Amino acid sequence: MSSTGEAAGTLSAPQVERYHRQIILPELGLAGQRDLLARRVLVVGAGALGSPAALYLAAAGVGTIGIADGDRVDVSNLHRQVLHGTGDVGRPKTASAKNRLAALNPGVRVVEHRQYLDRTNVLAVMAQYDVVVDGSDSFATRYLVNDAAVQLGKPLVSAAILRFEGQLLVFRPGAGCYRCVFPEPPPAGTVPNCAEAGVLGAVAGVVGSAQAVEALKLLAEVGEPAVGRLSLYDAWTGTWQQVRFHRDPTCAVCGDRPTITSLIDYDAWCGVPADSASEGAPEVSAEEAWRLHQSGVPLVDVRPLAEYRRGHVRGSVPVGPVADGSDLPASVAGAAAPLVVCVCLQGVRSAQAARRFSAAGQRAVSLQGGLLAWARAGLPWDSSSAGD
Ligand SMILES: [Zn+2]
Repeated sequence: MSSTGEAAGTLSAPQVERYHRQIILPELGLAGQRDLLARRVLVVGAGALGSPAALYLAAAGVGTIGIADGDRVDVSNLHRQVLHGTGDVGRPKTASAKNRLAALNPGVRVVEHRQYLDRTNVLAVMAQYDVVVDGSDSFATRYLVNDAAVQLGKPLVSAAILRFEGQLLVFRPGAGCYRCVFPEPPPAGTVPNCAEAGVLGAVAGVVGSAQAVEALKLLAEVGEPAVGRLSLYDAWTGTWQQVRFHRDPTCAVCGDRPTITSLIDYDAWCGVPADSASEGAPEVSAEEAWRLHQSGVPLVDVRPLAEYRRGHVRGSVPVGPVADGSDLPASVAGAAAPLVVCVCLQGVRSAQAARRFSAAGQRAVSLQGGLLAWARAGLPWDSSSAGD
């Protein structure tokens, strides 16, 4: 990817103008900018991380930007997926991304890969690019993209976010891979995704932008890419931490004797996400819970008290956190409560609690969709300070 000074004249006058503040960085210069315009980057996922990453890569003048995503824009995406606007709800994310990036910089080519990457298509897509930026939100895709990057010898900038935290990993061929750091995915269902656990949108802005920075350094061959370091961002305390790692000679994919030499069934390997955590627990709608409560059935909130205080169904009693073997407090249990309605934020923990109570002999149902469904139904809720 090295360049000679003579070829630097291939930038047009409008390009020199547009990228002026970048070109005057002596470390980048005209040749670095011309290199970026000739490079191709694949952004996996036009979501929370892919949004800031793709915006900055397009603004910086990376010549070709591939966007791989099979999803459509949902209104609940917009607080963190800043590629998309309110008018894009319902559109394919790749189409929305292409419009937005073209508006930002018509001089870059955006290629839509309107599909989820899987083992049947990932190699063909990825082979067209110089660097891969992974902003996907599932372990299956993360391992798929990693294994394909190792097979194809592509540099990979991987990241993940959840709640107030982010992580960033940069891999260059021969210098370790995602599996060197995380040899196996966590057991299915033990690590929630953003839809279950939430995320502060701006955390994606920080980590996705860091991905763009790392990708630009790899593409222009400048600076010191954060290879061999696991970078952890804690937005709660506003701190970054770095943990060094090395290529693991026993790594199943990039080790000395790899045992995984072709792409596998990643969904099966990572375990199908337990999207039906409420399975087996009787559920009631918000309206039905309201009617039950009016007729004297207690509403018991199974979350930790601090969470209860930040918002709860009006009239509900905090009994949480409910763990295995928990008993209902005496004030709620007993003859006075032949039935209770369990409540949490989204209806997952309340369903688990209802199962536990039922197993212990206390008849219980779960408020489907939790406090959020209750609030959407226009039913009253309260918050209280720690002193209440
Ligand atoms: Zn490895």
